Amino acid sequence: MSKPNSNAILSPDFKFEDMGIGGLGNEFSTIFRRAFASPCLVAKIGIPHVKGILLYGPPGTGKTLIARQIGKMLNARPPKVINGPEVLNKFVGQSEENIRKLFADAEAEYKEKGEESSLHIIIFDELDAVCKQRGSGAGGGTGVGDSVVNQLLSKLDGVDQLNNILLIGMTNRKDMIDDALLRPGRLEVHLEISLPDEAGRLEIIKIHTSKMRTNGLLNPDVNLEELAALTKNFSGAEINGLVKAAASFAFSRHTEVGQLAAVKQDVGSMKISHSDFANALTEVRPAYGVSEAELE
Ligand code: ATP
Repeated sequence: MSKPNSNAILSPDFKFEDMGIGGLGNEFSTIFRRAFASPCLVAKIGIPHVKGILLYGPPGTGKTLIARQIGKMLNARPPKVINGPEVLNKFVGQSEENIRKLFADAEAEYKEKGEESSLHIIIFDELDAVCKQRGSGAGGGTGVGDSVVNQLLSKLDGVDQLNNILLIGMTNRKDMIDDALLRPGRLEVHLEISLPDEAGRLEIIKIHTSKMRTNGLLNPDVNLEELAALTKNFSGAEINGLVKAAASFAFSRHTEVGQLAAVKQDVGSMKISHSDFANALTEVRPAYGVSEAELE
């Protein structure tokens, strides 16, 4: 059986690189299809809408990036972004209150406008910090983690009639998340965002060098394909770090001590070259696995 085309919902000339996302075309299309299709289906045929999506995988692979861009494409309100440890509070009841507040605006708007309400996206980073299996002692053994999970469950179950909320949870440790949160009707779509392959790395390198290429700052001796091959095990964030490091080497070659002000006007003549990337590769290393080769 042929693989279904997840892209069908996006226009044929849609370019992922225009969104600043490299190597995640299939993942982006899948999330978009699941998140976009739901409100339409709910209105027409009564299929419950997807309230929650879990993105999991190593750090720096673009989970937050993808969640934010999905929000823009769905014309959602600017997302509320919350980090697991931020929710925890030592005062009794305050952590639950923090969760309640996350949902309050969406609930109020839905009450007022019903199906006309705009979509509210909640991006919950480091979900594992607070939503560990209940009874595991998350939240410093105080039971705070358990009550956060309970509050989140009650909010997700409570939004049954609301079609205007999408919770996007993110974690590096899917295995630690309380199973109850991952059931249908809650964070029901699970998608792994893994380290990019070589083709993905090339797309990411192109994105992060696009401005320097447009401004003619990249020396012709820089071979982007070669860089993609040499950055095995790099995440998108590490590739971004590599490009920044290369630029800093070029900048310091170009700068004479005490000449910072002059350089500001003169940066057009600066060139980021092969040797700058070779230096950068000795400085920026992947956190997961090791890169096998170095530039000569
Ligand atoms: P964490 O798990 O640590 O929260 P994350 O997976 O959410 O990390 P992001 O915060 O989305 O990672 O990525 C950090 C930065 O790395 C991005 O702002 C972007 O500059 C770069 N980056 C990561 N992945 C990609 C990608 N696929 N394409 C382009 N840039 C990327």
